[in-house]
Amino acid sequence: MNVVHLALDNLEKYGEYTFLCFNGQGYSNIYVDKKSNYLGYGLQERGLKKDERVIVFLDNMPEVVISYYAILRIGAIVVPVNPQMSAEDLAHIISDCEPGAVITSARLSATVSQALDLACLKPQVIVVGDVANEENISIEDCYVPEDTLLMTDRPDDAAAAIIYTSGTTGPPKGVVLSHFNLYMQGHSDIRGMGFFDSSGNRLIDKVNLLVVLPLSHVYGLCTIAVAFLAGGSIFLLPNFNLKQILCYIQTYDITVFGGVPSMYAALASYPDVEKYNVSSVTRWLCGAAPLPGSVRGAFEKRFNSNIIEGYGLTETVSGYSLQRHDRLIKPGSVGQPVSGSEVRVVDDIGRMLPPGHVGEFIIKGANVMQGYYKNEAKTAEVIKDGWLYTGDIGYMDEDGDIFLIERKQDLIKRAGITIYPSEVEEVLLSHPDIREVGVMGIPEPEYGEQVGAFIVLKKGAKANKNSIKAFCRKSLPDYKVPVRIVFCDSLPKNELGRILRREIAKTISL
Ligand code: ATP
Repeated sequence: MNVVHLALDNLEKYGEYTFLCFNGQGYSNIYVDKKSNYLGYGLQERGLKKDERVIVFLDNMPEVVISYYAILRIGAIVVPVNPQMSAEDLAHIISDCEPGAVITSARLSATVSQALDLACLKPQVIVVGDVANEENISIEDCYVPEDTLLMTDRPDDAAAAIIYTSGTTGPPKGVVLSHFNLYMQGHSDIRGMGFFDSSGNRLIDKVNLLVVLPLSHVYGLCTIAVAFLAGGSIFLLPNFNLKQILCYIQTYDITVFGGVPSMYAALASYPDVEKYNVSSVTRWLCGAAPLPGSVRGAFEKRFNSNIIEGYGLTETVSGYSLQRHDRLIKPGSVGQPVSGSEVRVVDDIGRMLPPGHVGEFIIKGANVMQGYYKNEAKTAEVIKDGWLYTGDIGYMDEDGDIFLIERKQDLIKRAGITIYPSEVEEVLLSHPDIREVGVMGIPEPEYGEQVGAFIVLKKGAKANKNSIKAFCRKSLPDYKVPVRIVFCDSLPKNELGRILRREIAKTISL
C-alpha cells in the first residue's frame, strides 16, 4: 500500500475541484497530484530512495502538501518540522534522523544552513516556493515522462512519517507512523468528525476546512488526509490572525475549523465577532491541550455553537477520542474512542480498572505508532503487548466517555497526597484577572512538593498574590492552594499553544 492512494481515490471519486486555497489562489486536486509527481521525479533524479528521510521545514504553504505527497510517492519518509524551531533544535532532529534531503524555503534556508553546520551533516537542501537561485529545485522544471505516475508500493507497516513530539516531557522523540497508520486515521477521522456515517453516507454537504494549525504538527497534517477522503477543500492560512480567520469563514463558507484552546480563548474575547457571519461552521474542533471550562463557556455563548473536543498524541496519529457532534457534550469529557481504537484504563501494574476509576489510558489499534525512531528501549517502555501506554491519567464513565485529568509526569505529590495541577489551573483561570497559568510541583523539604503557580495577568489587572490565594480557597482545600505564586510576562508554549510546564522551571526563577 501507499497512503498516496487516498489522493488518487479522491481524483477518481470527485473529479477535478479546488482542493487547496492559499493567498486567494485556488489549486485543484489534479494540480496538487501532478506537482507532487513532478517533485517526486525531481527527488529521485537527485538520488533519493525509498526509506530515506526527507525533512520538510516550511511555513504553511501549498508546497508543504506537494512535498509530503512527493516524498511518499517515492517511498521515502516525511519528517515534518515546525518552522518556528531554532537552528539548535533542528540540528538535534537532523542528527537523529540523518536525512537525505531537507526541503525548505528561501525564508528559512539560513536556519537550515546553521543547523547543518551544528549537526556536521550535508544532506541536499532543496528550496521550493520562492525559487531564487539555480541550486534550488523548481517543481515546474522537474522532467516527467508523459503519463508516468510515480507510486512506490510499501508494506503496510513501512514508515511513512517520522514526527518529532513537542518535547513536553523530555527531549523530542521521533514517532514512526506507517502508511497504514496514516490511512486508517484518515478514515476514522472522517467518521469521528461526523462527515460520514458508518455505512459511508455523507452527513455534511461541503467539507471546507480552515487550516491555521501548522501542517508540520500531526494535528494539522491529518487535515490533508481528511480533505482528500471527504472530497473537501483546505483553506490554508500561514498564521493565526483573528480578523483573517473570521473573514475567511464568511467569504469561503467554511464548515470545519480546527483549533486549539488558546485560539478559542482569543476568538471568544475578540471585540468584532458580531460583524461576521460564521454560521456556516458546523464543526468547531479543538484538541492538543486542556480546554478550560471558562473558555468553552465563553466561546459557546458568544458563537452560539458547541466546541467538539478531541484528544490524542503524536504516537496515535493525532486524535484517538472525539466528542460526537450530534450528542450532548458531557462537561469535561474529551469524547469516545474513534473507530478502530480500543481504550482501557489501568492501574500502576497494568490491571484494567472499572468505569469511574482513575488510572492511565492505554490504547490498541490501527492508529498506534510503530515505535520511536532508533530507540527500541523507549519504545519497549511505552508499547507492551501491543498496548500503547499514553502517560495520561483519567477515567472512562459507564458510557465509555473519556475524562482526561492529567499527565502522569506532572502530578504533584504533597506529603504522599496526589494533586492534579490541571484542577488548580482551572480554578485560577476562572479568576477574571488571570490570562494564563502553569501550575507545577515545587520541591520543598517538609512536604516533598508544594503547589506553585506561574501566572500571567490580564492588562490592567489589580489582583495580587494574597487576593488570588483567597480566591482559590473558595473552591479548593487548603493543601491545593498555591503556596508560591510567581507573576510572569509570558509562559513558554509549544507550537500549538500548550504551556510547557517543565520549561517554566528552567526559564523562570522562583
Ligand atoms: P512529548 O511526548 O515529547 O512530551 P508532547 O506530549 O507535547 O511531547 P504531543 O503528542 O503533541 O507531544 O502531545 C500529546 C499530549 O497532549 C497528550 O498526551 C495529552 O497530554 C495532551 N492532549 C492532547 N489532546 C488533549 C486534550 N484535548 N486535552 C488535554 N490534553 C490533551
